Amino acid sequence: MHMGEGLEESLVGAVAPASTEEESPLEESKAPMAKPESKSMSNWKKFLLLDEPLTFRAVQRFLRLERPNKFPTEEELAAYLRNVPEEAIKETVKREDEVKKSGGDVDEIVEEYGRFQEFSDFEIKRIEDLKHWNKIRSYLEAHNLKPEGVRVIVIDNDEYWKNFYGSNDSKSGFEPKTIIIRKGVFEEDGVSDEDLSWIVHEVAHLSFYDFLDEKTAEYIAGTQEPQKYIKTAMESIAFQAQIAYLKSLGKTKESVSAFVGTYIEKSFGRDEEIDDDQREVKQKELAQLMKYVDNVYYQ
Ligand SMILES: [Zn+2]
Repeated sequence: MHMGEGLEESLVGAVAPASTEEESPLEESKAPMAKPESKSMSNWKKFLLLDEPLTFRAVQRFLRLERPNKFPTEEELAAYLRNVPEEAIKETVKREDEVKKSGGDVDEIVEEYGRFQEFSDFEIKRIEDLKHWNKIRSYLEAHNLKPEGVRVIVIDNDEYWKNFYGSNDSKSGFEPKTIIIRKGVFEEDGVSDEDLSWIVHEVAHLSFYDFLDEKTAEYIAGTQEPQKYIKTAMESIAFQAQIAYLKSLGKTKESVSAFVGTYIEKSFGRDEEIDDDQREVKQKELAQLMKYVDNVYYQ
């Protein structure tokens, strides 16, 4: 079965039927960017395109839609952090067979995670209090990427990061709805525009989760196939918002293409280090990201 179908059906069932007069978010509009659109909830099923990337126009229309703007408190995020090692241990034990098959030692992994039970090298900040907030603020505000109420978890421990958050230096979570970043990258004096653009990417994710609200978990479950993931509305929105931010700073298409290439190289590894299947996925993802670059630069 196509993974998106059941999901789309259940979401369609959950919303009021769309009025015939209502404009599709996938169609072009001449309306200005600034004003959020109402009646958004009857439109959200349009963003469940798991097989097709969204155009930049559709991304712009999405950003104008109204969202609940509901984010967790600092206490809720602290409670989440307390549970991270425990949850990771449970997950490893649950997937014991898979872990062993891929050459992992379950006891070793559990011990490694266990070392972080009392982890405290983190800060929970209002997004406005990030060191380089002023560099992204006006872009986010101009594009209705509402950051009010967003709290960011700043991690100051590379080992912890590697264990729980992997190869990219930033993450967005939907349960709880938050952004998690590495302090050593994002709170440094010399942070690059390209690194900072990941915050724009993650804020766009939060907007999408906020928009889907309680349906987010179901949506994410439908994006798990790697070839689909990069084309989802979720990633179409995040990557194109990120690329548009870099374009707004005057970055050329060539420099953004190079940045995208470096990101793919880092997350997959070099061609000689990965097998044929992985190489194929890597190439497809890169091709998709280059389409996003084209969308943003030629719209
Ligand atoms: Zn993303």
